[in-house]
Amino acid sequence: MSSFSIWTIGCQMNVADSRRLAESLERYGLEAADGPHAADVVVLYSCVVRQQAEHRVHGQLRALQTMKAARPHMKVVVAGCVSDIPDWQRRYPFVDLIAEPGQDLTVRDRLIDLLDLSERYRFQPEQAIRLPGISEGVTIHQGCNRACTYCIVPSTRGGERSRPPAVIVDEIRRLVERGTKEVVLLSQIVERYGRDLRPRVLLSELLRQLDEIDGLERIRFLTSYPGDFGRDLVDAIADLPKVCEDVNLPIQAGDDDVLRRMRRGYVVDHYRELIGRLRQRMPEIGLSTDVIVGFPGETEAEFQHTLDMLDEFRFDVVHVAMYSPRPGTVAATQMSDDVPREEKRRRLHAVEDLQKRIATCINSRYLGRIVDVLVEGTAKGRWYGRTRTNKLVHFASAAPVAGQVLDVQITSTEPWYLSATPCT
Ligand code: SF4
Repeated sequence: MSSFSIWTIGCQMNVADSRRLAESLERYGLEAADGPHAADVVVLYSCVVRQQAEHRVHGQLRALQTMKAARPHMKVVVAGCVSDIPDWQRRYPFVDLIAEPGQDLTVRDRLIDLLDLSERYRFQPEQAIRLPGISEGVTIHQGCNRACTYCIVPSTRGGERSRPPAVIVDEIRRLVERGTKEVVLLSQIVERYGRDLRPRVLLSELLRQLDEIDGLERIRFLTSYPGDFGRDLVDAIADLPKVCEDVNLPIQAGDDDVLRRMRRGYVVDHYRELIGRLRQRMPEIGLSTDVIVGFPGETEAEFQHTLDMLDEFRFDVVHVAMYSPRPGTVAATQMSDDVPREEKRRRLHAVEDLQKRIATCINSRYLGRIVDVLVEGTAKGRWYGRTRTNKLVHFASAAPVAGQVLDVQITSTEPWYLSATPCT
């Protein structure tokens, strides 16, 4: 047992957890293989939040089944989001371990037991391992105790649980020592961080601790839930120098009846007040949101309210998805998926078209301005980085500038990114 491969799909949390697992396995002396076909152990970080992602996971599992038939010593582990574990165990008996909800934070330990690593290898905490990225996600909390009617997360990720602040601080210090400049704190419902800990800790208190870490330049967090976004958090973003003015705040719909059917637990007016408060303290704050179109029973008038809301709130970014029923959810079992697929698609395009116009207008105001970007790397021969408000900026530079915070002047704008030249 000497090499591993990790296949990851889905959210940033899966990406962050994959990175942590890869580091642990390398510290046990395992090497990253070229791909699953060459690995002794394959870990698949699954996502079933949307139908499309789940289809890809099942496709990958079928491919792994064929590989394992040819190489029976290979171990296969499934972690991340899994919907119905007994069903998956029946369908994929060749899988050696499926991490249940609540065990995903300890998947490393379970893997170490499964592979008997502690018997064969010595854990070397300081062993040189892969360098982390300039910006890294760090899981601080998992699960969700809410029950939005469309959402499968409470059953795939289990109840809410937080990692202790000291563990998070330690992980981030280690990342910073090895080159990370920005961390994105990850959770399905990030404002709930610390409420299960004793003594209780607030997200704003964790942010204050992280703000003290030398060498760390920027802190972001996601995903937010409007019902729990308190004034202390607004103050923390506004007051703490390293916390970026950047909030991802899913609203999901602009109509109170749809929100009620989704059991989101707030109305549009509450959301309006919250972003009013954020913009009052930080007029330039970057705001993104998530929207679902074609939710069961969504009428044309209700959908129009969502368009009106987007026009009024003017987000920097809107992530829009067509509703798809997820097994076991209230919406799937008790509501009729009655908006035809073509109509869902039309609504999706209507949101995309509107958002393109809004983003074009918002970004055009950056033309000629000087902004500071944290440079993350290169793509297609140009450097890229992000502003504090999460605007993606491309620019050319002959100097190696990865990891630096640079002043650049915006020379052209597009709805989804900005181009710039470095200031001298
Ligand atoms: S708050 Fe978010 S994660 Fe929790 S049930 Fe609702 S949509 Fe799902």
